[in-house]
Amino acid sequence: MIKIGILGGGQLGRMTIEESRKLLSYIEVLSPDYPAPGADLADVTHVGELTDYEAVMEVASEVDVLSYEIEHVNVDALTQLEKDGKIVIPSAGVLRAIQDKGRQKLLMDEAKIPTARWAWVGDGTEAATQAAVLEAAKALGGFPLVQKARTGGYDGRGVAVLRSAEDARAPEDGGKLLPVPSFLEELVDFQKELAVVVVRDRNGNEDSYPCVEMVFDSRANLCDSVLMPARVSQAVMEEAAAVARAMIDCLDSYARKNSTVQTSGASGVFAVELFLTRDGRILVNETAPRPHNSGHITQDACETSQFEQYYRILCGYPLGSTQLLKHGMMVNLLGEESANGEAVYEGLADALAVPGVRVHLYGKRQVRPFRKMGHLNAVGSTAEEAMDRAEKARKTLKIVGSGRAV
Ligand code: ADP
Repeated sequence: MIKIGILGGGQLGRMTIEESRKLLSYIEVLSPDYPAPGADLADVTHVGELTDYEAVMEVASEVDVLSYEIEHVNVDALTQLEKDGKIVIPSAGVLRAIQDKGRQKLLMDEAKIPTARWAWVGDGTEAATQAAVLEAAKALGGFPLVQKARTGGYDGRGVAVLRSAEDARAPEDGGKLLPVPSFLEELVDFQKELAVVVVRDRNGNEDSYPCVEMVFDSRANLCDSVLMPARVSQAVMEEAAAVARAMIDCLDSYARKNSTVQTSGASGVFAVELFLTRDGRILVNETAPRPHNSGHITQDACETSQFEQYYRILCGYPLGSTQLLKHGMMVNLLGEESANGEAVYEGLADALAVPGVRVHLYGKRQVRPFRKMGHLNAVGSTAEEAMDRAEKARKTLKIVGSGRAV
């Protein structure tokens, strides 16, 4: 049996392990916490930091193929492992490009992939100051603008909307400036946020799922629900797929060019996040090198889920079909605003009674306000039917806390 190692103990690893069991599998996980969603289901769990070089090397020494379900891992360890002949998916070079949003922007410009106009704050390597932001803002035609940290961002942290020169002041002076190496981007006037999940096996065979449309919950700053397929024209669907695939090609070339050894390049599961602007253009926002929240709906709306694809790719098996079977809507299940303590799932039975609805819980013992505890997928023969079912189940199911710590 092929031994797989996954860096990260979260729900993405958990759902991959769940899918992999159909094919028989052996998966070791490195997780900073235990218990944790992925760590709970792994054959072996190593508890350690994902940024710890030695901890990554130790897991790798026990497996045939190493992967990661989160971007914040020690990329130097992955690079060394590739030099030692270990298969790393996606390759270390891909992760290096993705960990630095500034480098992603440079690569997109080089490859002529459409993306929002941008400019470094200063030379992009030193902590941002108000003066440097004002200078960069001039080059982009003034505010409003979005400041993005080059590294370390996640779920909207590391992104600041600067509406005026006052916003460009340091937080201690009442502004929103991120005092880190960063760049500015034009604030995109978008009609929709879209995403395309692209899958590429170790031989370079590639496919993509139908483009999805994302809806954000501004209270929780999280992608709250996803509709597949997106409610856009066929031309937009096709262009979104073409742009997303071009982005993966671009990462593949970068990784191969910058490695002295043979690597897996951009093989793996990728989510390319896109903006559809009000004037109809598609721009790439960023890429995730792993299964993604925008692809959860594939579990119930498509022939093969993104998690099964991921496991197939890690093992060197052929890709499964990305065929859409039904319209689908995914809704993230978050802890209620006041939830704390041990998680309690109120109304679960009623949610499960809604036709076409499947609930996927991550097994997190502890609930916090807006913590992602699971998701539900609703399918239907039309977008409206899927949305109605999803809304009905969402209203029924509440994740509250017992008030007692676990
Ligand atoms: P993260 O990596 O933390 O998820 P993103 O770059 O995806 O950060 O930004 C989070 C969200 O902020 C996006 O999904 C989008 O809603 C908004 N956003 C990001 N960049 C822009 C932009 N240039 N214009 C308008 N909105 C943006």
